[in-house]
Amino acid sequence: MLADRYDAFLFDLDGVIVVGDRPVDGAVDALARLRDRGTPIRFVTNNSRSTREALCAHLRDLGIEARVEEMYTAASATAAHLADAGADSVYVLGDDGFAAEMSRHGVTPTDGRAGGDSVIEDAADAVAVGLDRTATYDKLATATRLIRERGAAFVAANDDNAYPTDEGIAPGTGALVAALRTATGREPTVVGKPHPELFERAMSGLDGEVAMVGDSLASDVEGARRAGIESIYVTAHARAEDEGPAPDATVDTPAGLFDPEC
Ligand SMILES: [Mg+2]
Repeated sequence: MLADRYDAFLFDLDGVIVVGDRPVDGAVDALARLRDRGTPIRFVTNNSRSTREALCAHLRDLGIEARVEEMYTAASATAAHLADAGADSVYVLGDDGFAAEMSRHGVTPTDGRAGGDSVIEDAADAVAVGLDRTATYDKLATATRLIRERGAAFVAANDDNAYPTDEGIAPGTGALVAALRTATGREPTVVGKPHPELFERAMSGLDGEVAMVGDSLASDVEGARRAGIESIYVTAHARAEDEGPAPDATVDTPAGLFDPEC
């Protein structure tokens, strides 16, 4: 069975562990069984809106054990990227959870959010782009000037085009990134899946064979390929319009990790 084949697992959250406000069938039990075996688990999500604490609390509410140090989000990895690059200040195009992760990594949001004590909009070491549901033309203009005229680094949590909501499809982080790419003529550093940096951070400290368990061929399976690890594709909530490389294994739900036939 797949649970025996790998030494550690990376799990995508949306569509693999949770779907909306409930756990995916089999996810609670599969994670508990992996923990009973002592198999290391990491959660790897392109979520750029929530703090790791908030995501862990959500999982715990659903009966899933989760620790902050196991949670790797596009937000936390972007903040870690900027901290490692020596950035002290950042103009955040993103929700409050994204700004909070910056602050927790010692990079001060210049708009006064998340503990920043002053509002300084004409200088920042970097512009960080996440999903910003209150994005305005003025915010895009400030980010454009910082990148193009003030030499700020241009870093994006992910470049996801769109995502489903209760009201229908909505623009993703990648739509904001595209606006800034067009306005500045610069290419951002993209941290989240399928780019390798989020995987590399999540895999640090793990030994042996690691598998990525995800419901997106374009994001999880392609990201695993680029990171040099195997992938297990979970189909129960996968989207029809999704293209990417072939996974190493396919299961219906995370319960498939313990299927003796796989
Ligand atoms: Mg997913």
